[in-house]
Amino acid sequence: MPSAHPDVMDKLVSLAKRRGFIFQSSEIYGGLGSVWDYGPLGVELKRNLQERWWHAMVRSRDDIEGLDSAILMHPRVWEASGHVGGFVDPLVDCKVCKGRFRADKLQDAQCPRKPSRKPGEHGECQLTEPRQFNLMFKTHMGAVEDTAAAIYLRPETAQGSYVNFLNVQQGMRQKVPFGIAQIGKAFRNEITPGNFIFRTREFEQMEMQFFVEPGTDMEWFEKWKAWRMAWHQGLGLLPGRLTYHEHEGSELAHYARAAFDIEFDFGGTLGPQEIEGIHNRGDFDLGKHQEFSGKRLEYVDQGANKRYLPYVIETACGPNRTLLALLVNGYREEAVQGEDEGRVVLGLSPALAPIKAAIFPLTRKDGMPEMAEKIAAELRGRFRVDYDLSGSIGKRYRRQDEVGTPYCITVDPESVGNGSVTVRDRDTLKQDRVDATRLGAWLGERLPA
Ligand code: ATP
Repeated sequence: MPSAHPDVMDKLVSLAKRRGFIFQSSEIYGGLGSVWDYGPLGVELKRNLQERWWHAMVRSRDDIEGLDSAILMHPRVWEASGHVGGFVDPLVDCKVCKGRFRADKLQDAQCPRKPSRKPGEHGECQLTEPRQFNLMFKTHMGAVEDTAAAIYLRPETAQGSYVNFLNVQQGMRQKVPFGIAQIGKAFRNEITPGNFIFRTREFEQMEMQFFVEPGTDMEWFEKWKAWRMAWHQGLGLLPGRLTYHEHEGSELAHYARAAFDIEFDFGGTLGPQEIEGIHNRGDFDLGKHQEFSGKRLEYVDQGANKRYLPYVIETACGPNRTLLALLVNGYREEAVQGEDEGRVVLGLSPALAPIKAAIFPLTRKDGMPEMAEKIAAELRGRFRVDYDLSGSIGKRYRRQDEVGTPYCITVDPESVGNGSVTVRDRDTLKQDRVDATRLGAWLGERLPA
C-alpha cells in the first residue's frame, strides 16, 4: 500500500555506504545480491538496538532467560517443526523476462520490463502456475555428500528455544510462566529479496518464546502485544507510523491460535510492513518435538500437582528491519538559517546513536587540540566518541548530523582559559556551556541506558 511518507530509500542506501553504516557484500567482486555487510557505524547501531532488546527482555526481568543455540540443528528438528514439508512460498516464473516472483506478493512487485506495472499486467507477460518453493538453505555436514548428512541452516531461532525448553527450565529452576530469548542469525532463500536490508537471505532475529499454562495464553498474548508496541515506540519510531496488523483466515499459520504483526510505515511504495510478529502458537511446537523425539517435554507443576505441555506466546523481531525503520524514521533534510546549503540529519534517539559525542578544537592553535584530545580520551572509556579537527566547524557539525551524533563538543579559546566547553544539541541546535570536568556526568544524564 503506498504511503503518505516520502520514499527515502535511495538516499539512505547512498548515505549508509558513504558514512560507513552498510556496504554491499563482496562489492569488489560485483556484489552478492541482497547480502549486506554492516560497517563501523552500522554495527554500533545494530548492537545498541540488540542490547536494548536484551536488556528489556532478559536483564530487566526475572521470568525470561537468555539462550544462544546453534545455527545447525538435527535435521529431524525441521521435520517436526513442519519446515521441511511446509516452509514454502508460492513461486511464479515469467517465461518472457525470466523474472521470479512470490505469487502472494505480486501486488508489491514490479514487472522488470515495465516497472509501472505489476508482473502479469504487461501485455507480454507469461506467468507460470504457482509452485511451492522451500525457503530453507540446505548443506552437508561432514566430508561425505550423501543425503544422510543433509543439514539445514536454521530459518528461525525459535526451534533452538523449544528443543532446550526443559534444559533451561530445570537448569534455571524456572516456573511457568517464563520465557526464553535469543538473538541470532537466520537464513531463508527468499524468492524476492530486496528493498535494501528489508528482506535479505541472511538476517538476524531477536525472538522470545514465552511458555504459559493453557487457558492463560490469550491474556499473555495481549500483554506481549502491548509491551512490544511500547518497546518500538520507545526506540523513537513515530507512533503514527506504527500499526498492528491482525492475521485472519488463510493468513493465519496453521499452528497459530492468534497472530498480530507490528508494522512500520517505510514510506513510498513499500509503505507499512511487518517488523515484528507476535504469535500464540499453542502447544504446537512442544507437541511436535515431543512426538518426533519421543522425549516427554511436559512441565511438572509440583505445587498444583499437575503436568502439561505449555502454550507458547512468541515475539519475533528482526533487528535488520527495525534498524532500517530507524534510519527511515530518522532521516530528514533541513534548511539552515543563514546558510545556502541545508543539512541532512539522522534523528536517532541518543541512546541508539552510534557516536554519542564528537569533540572539536575550534582551531589548531593555542592548546585547543591538546585540550580536546584529552577530553576525547577521558570520555572514550564510557562513550563511543569521535575526535575531528579537519574543516570548518560548520562542516564538522554536518558530518556528525548525518550520522546521528546527538552532541558536538567544541573547545574554543575561552575553554583553554576557564575550562568550559560548548555542547551543541543536534536537534535544537542550542549550545550549552559546560565545565569540561562535568562532561561525563552531563552526557550520562542525557544518554540513559
Ligand atoms: P515476511 O512475511 O516479511 O516474509 P515473516 O512473517 O516470514 O516475514 P517471521 O517468520 O515472523 O517473518 O520473522 C520474524 C521477523 O524476522 C520479521 O518480523 C522480520 O523483522 C524478520 N525477518 C523475516 N524474514 C526476514 C528477511 N528475509 N530479511 C530480514 N528480516 C526478516
